[in-house]
Amino acid sequence: MSAKFQSVRGMRDVLPDEVATWQHVEQVVRDVLSAYAYKEVRLPVVEVAELFTHAIGDATDVVSKEMYTFADRSGEQLSLRPEGTAGCVRAVIQNGLVHRGGPGHKLWYQGPMFRYEKPQRGRYRCFNQIGAEVYGFPGPGVDAELVCLCARIWRLLGLEGIRLEVNTLATRDTRDTYRAVLLDYFQANADQLDADSQVRLEKNVLRILDSKNPEMRDLIEQAPALIDYLDTESEQHFGQFCELLDTAGVAYTVNPRLVRGLDYYSRTVFEFITESLGAQGTICGGGRYDYLVEQQGGPPTPAVGFSMGLERIVELVSLKTPVSGVQPHVYVVARGEVAVSAAFGLCERLRDELPWLRIEQNAGGGSFKAQFKRADRSGASFAMVIGEGEVQQQLVSLKSLRTDDEQAQVAMDALSKELNTLRAQSRL
Ligand code: ATP
Ligand code: MG
Repeated sequence: MSAKFQSVRGMRDVLPDEVATWQHVEQVVRDVLSAYAYKEVRLPVVEVAELFTHAIGDATDVVSKEMYTFADRSGEQLSLRPEGTAGCVRAVIQNGLVHRGGPGHKLWYQGPMFRYEKPQRGRYRCFNQIGAEVYGFPGPGVDAELVCLCARIWRLLGLEGIRLEVNTLATRDTRDTYRAVLLDYFQANADQLDADSQVRLEKNVLRILDSKNPEMRDLIEQAPALIDYLDTESEQHFGQFCELLDTAGVAYTVNPRLVRGLDYYSRTVFEFITESLGAQGTICGGGRYDYLVEQQGGPPTPAVGFSMGLERIVELVSLKTPVSGVQPHVYVVARGEVAVSAAFGLCERLRDELPWLRIEQNAGGGSFKAQFKRADRSGASFAMVIGEGEVQQQLVSLKSLRTDDEQAQVAMDALSKELNTLRAQSRL
C-alpha cells in the first residue's frame, strides 16, 4: 500500500509516543512564565507580508529566503508567520495595549512558525516556538529577568551544559557609527566575501556578522567589534544587565560577534546554546528591540523578548529523560451484547464519580483472550472484566495486570469505593 499523500517537506507530525515529552516541556515553560506573572496572548498564524519585511529586515535570511508568502483570493500578499515578535508588536499597537505613560506588559505566546529552510535535524519548515515579549520597561532589569526565566526552565527540565552568550547592539546612533567602521573593513576585504555577504555589504553590513558560512569565520573574527564602540548609555545598560545575571548566579560569556538573525534588535541580545544537538545548537534567542514599536506606527515603547525552539528542546529532553505517556488505570474487557452495553453505562458512571480515573473501554469486540492482550498493551494496571454472568450478579471481576494478585469480584455499586482504595494504596 502506498500512501496517496505525504506531509509537506520539512513539516513533521508529532505522534502519541512523543507527545508526553512535548506536554511536559510545555507545562514546565508555562508554569515558569506564570510564576514570573507573564500573561498569554494568542495571535494569528497569518499576517500581511509587509509586516515581516518591515520588521525583520529584507537583508535577513528569514525575509530574503525563508518566508511563505502568497496572495489570498483578494490578491492581498500574506505570509505564514516566520516568528512571533512582529505579530505581537502589531497586536499590542492595534489593540491599544501600548501607549505613552501607560502600564507595561509582560506577554507570552506559543505556536507554529514557518520558514522555507533546508530541512535537517533541528531545522524544520514548520516548527514551534514559545516566546515572551515585554513592553514598556527601558531598564536592564527585564532583560535579566527574561534570561533568568529561561535558565530556570533549563534547570527544571534537568538540562545541563547549556551555554549563555550575551552581547549588546547598542543604540541606533552608535550602531550607525559602527556600521561605517564595519563597512570600511568589509569593503577593504571585499574579495573574501561570499555571495550572500556581497549582497549584505550593499543592504545591511551588520548582517555579515551573522553569516553561517565557515569560510567567512576568520574574516568575521577579525572584524572590529561593536562592543569597542559603545556609547556610555549602552555601556551602562549592558553592565547592569551583566551584574544582575551575576547576582542571580546565571553564568554567561560575552560574545562580541553575536548579532542575531533579525534586524530589529538593539542593546541586549542573548542566545542559549547546547553542544548536544549537532549543528543546530541554539535553543533560545532574544534581545531588546526598543525601536520596533515606533517603527510599526506605535508610540515609542521599549521592548525586549525571547523565543525558544520547542523541537530542539524536546529533543534535548528526550535524549536525557524521555517522559512516558499517560496510561489508563483500568481497561474494560466485556463480551456479549448485554455485557458490552452494561460496561458502557458503568464506565460513564465511574467517570462521573471519579474524575481522576482514566478508564479505557475495549473497542472492536474480540475474544476474551484478544481483549486481554489489548488490555496488557494499553499499560493499564487493572483489567475490569464483565461477562453476562457478571451482569446478572451485578458485579465485575478486577484483575491486576502487573502483579500476581488474585482476581477479585467487586459489586458494581461498590466499584467507586474499591477504585478509590486501590488508588490510596498506589496500586492504580
Ligand atoms: P538558527 O541560527 O538556528 O537559524 P535563528 O536565529 O534563525 O536560529 P530565531 O529566529 O532566533 O532563530 O528563533 C528562535 C529559536 O527558534 C531558535 O533558537 C531555534 O531554537 C528555533 N528555530 C529557528 N528556526 C528553526 C527551524 N527552522 N526549525 C526548528 N527550530 C527553529
Ligand atoms: Mg535561522
